[in-house]
Amino acid sequence: MEIVKSEVVIIGAGLTGLSLAYYLRNSGLAVSIIEARNRLGGRILTQYVEDGAPLEAGATWLGVKHEVLNRLLEELDIGIFEQELGEKAVYEPISTSPHQIVSLPPNSDPSYRIQGGSSILIDVLAEKIDSHQIHLGEIAKEILKTKDGLIVKCEHSAYQASWVVSTLPPHLLVSTVAFQPQLPEELLAVAAKTHTWMGESIKIGLRYRQPFWRNKNSSGTIVSNVGPIPEMYDHSNYEASHYALKGFLNGSYYSVTRAERLEMVLRQLRKYYGPKVDDYLSYEENIWREEPYTYVDYQGHILPHQNNGHSVYQQAFFDGKFFIAGSETASQFPGYMDGAVRSAHSVSQKILNM
Ligand SMILES: Cc1cc2nc3c(=O)[nH]c(=O)nc-3n(C[C@H](O)[C@H](O)[C@H](O)COP(=O)(O)OP(=O)(O)OC[C@H]3O[C@@H](n4cnc5c(N)ncnc54)[C@H](O)[C@@H]3O)c2cc1C
Repeated sequence: MEIVKSEVVIIGAGLTGLSLAYYLRNSGLAVSIIEARNRLGGRILTQYVEDGAPLEAGATWLGVKHEVLNRLLEELDIGIFEQELGEKAVYEPISTSPHQIVSLPPNSDPSYRIQGGSSILIDVLAEKIDSHQIHLGEIAKEILKTKDGLIVKCEHSAYQASWVVSTLPPHLLVSTVAFQPQLPEELLAVAAKTHTWMGESIKIGLRYRQPFWRNKNSSGTIVSNVGPIPEMYDHSNYEASHYALKGFLNGSYYSVTRAERLEMVLRQLRKYYGPKVDDYLSYEENIWREEPYTYVDYQGHILPHQNNGHSVYQQAFFDGKFFIAGSETASQFPGYMDGAVRSAHSVSQKILNM
């Protein structure tokens, strides 16, 4: 098996992995990034079509409070725009009564989206990094501590380095990657019960020729206790030239077919908007629990965000040579894009100060 040598190996080319490589770009350290999928971005995935609104299958919103992410976006000259909510919302509190149109209070903490789609952030980060550093389709299988440094054994090659940084969601890491010697018991126990944010979620989107929901007695903002769509929003593009609705579907519907999910989605939307919902241009969905490089089943019950930001992730392992980064490990905003960038920044500082 070929052995690729570098000083830092980053496992995973999601937002954490790519921003870590970006923060290390002027360090003079040779960095390799290994990524199991044949695409970059991990849980950031914008679905593009010609002449249609880009649809976010993964991360979408950020707020003013996400300071580290906002700073990175500014540095990279990437714009954001406010999520369109309208003045009203479709509200369905209970299945035995019809839905209502309610007025929304003024929004003092708006959400923002990335102009052109969240994947723009991934694309711009990747442009800043030498493409030869990135190895797609490489699945990390085992991490070994040897007298010559750490070795990451992958599907095709082995990667040797002084420092290895995992950016996998911690539960995925300890469930799918073997370690020699074994990692400390305390870490394994925490990681086994660290929730991967949004791992069970289903996102659905529909593109339309016209934003028919934007009128006096309607809204693209949907809040339903009845479902199967609990939340949905206007997802038209930044230029306001292409229109779409995007929302979540109750995660338990992963077990039915795509056609059945689509029919459920349309049935719910018909209640609010009538038959025009059937004239959609395209339907997209992403079932994250079916993505083996994001989600793996837990043993036992787990709460949303459980163990996210746990202090064990601030330690380094294997004599200070192995770090567990990734959004879920951040001490602020774990699980979110901001957490991913914070975790990358924090590990970059630890490596640069060694
Ligand atoms: C549906 C959904 C909606 C979301 N909405 C929002 C939102 O609105 N706002 C927000 O801030 N955040 C949101 N998030 C969360 C956000 O996407 C994540 O916090 C962030 O993208 C995590 O980045 P990461 O690099 O830490 O992890 P990931 O993106 O999970 O990256 C890990 C990478 O490791 C790779 N990998 C996995 N196993 C291996 C292996 N064995 N070998 C090599 N590579 C491997 C994966 O392919 C992946 O590319 C959402 C997530 C989802 C799924």
